[in-house]
Amino acid sequence: MNDRHLAHPLDLESPRLSVEKPAVRFDVQGERSDDDRVAAAISAFTHDFGRDVVVGLESCIHCGHCAEACQFFVATGDAKYTPTWKLEPFAQAYRREAGPFSWLYRALGMRSKVTVDELEAWQELIYDACTLCGRCTLACPMSIDIAGLVGLARHGMAQAGLVPHELWAVTERAARDGSPLGATPAVLKERLEWLSDEHEVDIHVDRPRAEILVTFSSIEIMKYPLSLVATARVMNHAGCDWTVSSAGYEATNFGMLAGSAEWQKRMTMKIVDAALACGAKIVVVPECGHAYSALRWQGANMLGRPLPFRVLHISEFLAEYLASGRIRVRQQAGSIAFHDPCQVSRRGGATQAPRDVLAALGLELRETKDSGDLNFCCGGGGGVIVNHRADELRYRAFGIKMAQLDATGADSMVTSCSNCRQSFDDGQAHFGWDRRMGSLLELVADHLDAPASGATQGRTAGA
Ligand code: SF4
Ligand code: SF4
Repeated sequence: MNDRHLAHPLDLESPRLSVEKPAVRFDVQGERSDDDRVAAAISAFTHDFGRDVVVGLESCIHCGHCAEACQFFVATGDAKYTPTWKLEPFAQAYRREAGPFSWLYRALGMRSKVTVDELEAWQELIYDACTLCGRCTLACPMSIDIAGLVGLARHGMAQAGLVPHELWAVTERAARDGSPLGATPAVLKERLEWLSDEHEVDIHVDRPRAEILVTFSSIEIMKYPLSLVATARVMNHAGCDWTVSSAGYEATNFGMLAGSAEWQKRMTMKIVDAALACGAKIVVVPECGHAYSALRWQGANMLGRPLPFRVLHISEFLAEYLASGRIRVRQQAGSIAFHDPCQVSRRGGATQAPRDVLAALGLELRETKDSGDLNFCCGGGGGVIVNHRADELRYRAFGIKMAQLDATGADSMVTSCSNCRQSFDDGQAHFGWDRRMGSLLELVADHLDAPASGATQGRTAGA
């Protein structure tokens, strides 16, 4: 990472960044003793003390580069948001329970036990003040995956019943109903039927065999339904053999965000099983950053073997099919800025795909000061956006994006994550910002040219 990050991108005195301070609180799940919570957390931490964790916790040279990379530290200047500090109880547990001198520390009482008070205080740092964006990881000269360690630390918090209650509520709902926002299979089918009629587009549902399984995010289903229409238009335009499965359609994975490995696996396996059932060779992940991480990079761990299909983020699908000529678009004039979803670009590796898509549309891409792999998060990733006590902090982080996007002077802006879009819509309303974040997928769908030869446009909704 170069020293572009050292400059403070925000005017913290700006009146539009002044926000009300919410009451400080921590949340607990269930009735349990303090000792029980601590024991559950330590047990989960210890379970995760594998080679990567040990190397990470042992090799920090305290250089501070990760702090300069973290949006929450950059936006506030508060040392408690230093990424390594977010790991402290996890590191403390490691040193006392599993480190090379743990027996000595315990014998001499040199390292005190992690306490429930520390865990409760820590909740804010790893849930409110971390979007798992991985910018600290990229900045670290020792290649310590701090974001990955925060993700593991959340496992202990979930086991201890110490998750912010809004995040836990949507995670429970996803585990119970199959969707964090109530997009049950019945709701999905009803909405797809309505969208199919309203927009005169064929949406393939529950086909017994298909080459491509398409998944959606609940945010798209409930808040941005035109993304569903856009997906169907693009798939039909390209002549794809595709389907949505009512048994495995929800790509978001709040189990992963909350720290529940059990629920993370349950959500992932629904998609894996749906893909296996229809023989899909490709699973397309929608405009959702963490959904891509969950399936593309953690899916095989959930399954216990390599995934038997390719996983493509929708931006990768668009780039590939535009390059092959199966998707054809009309050329556009004007300039555009792109917001990189952290989990697709920096953490996912698909940084170039959206740029290829925008180039195919003929648009002039105006990059933000920190873009691509160096992108700052929208502030709402990692489950932060559902956690309202984090609003003040999230808006401070969002201010970085707002300033950088304004500075591009681009005519319009798009992203490829519906969670980011939601974060931008919320930030726009909060600050009275006169910009609107659009969808890369919808932009393509709105400018499709004549279908490629061989594309099928027949009405085929339903099995
Ligand atoms: S993952 Fe992102 S938000 Fe979390 S500590 Fe690192 S830089 Fe900060
Ligand atoms: S950048 Fe890496 S080595 Fe430096 S303080 Fe952060 S974690 Fe430690």
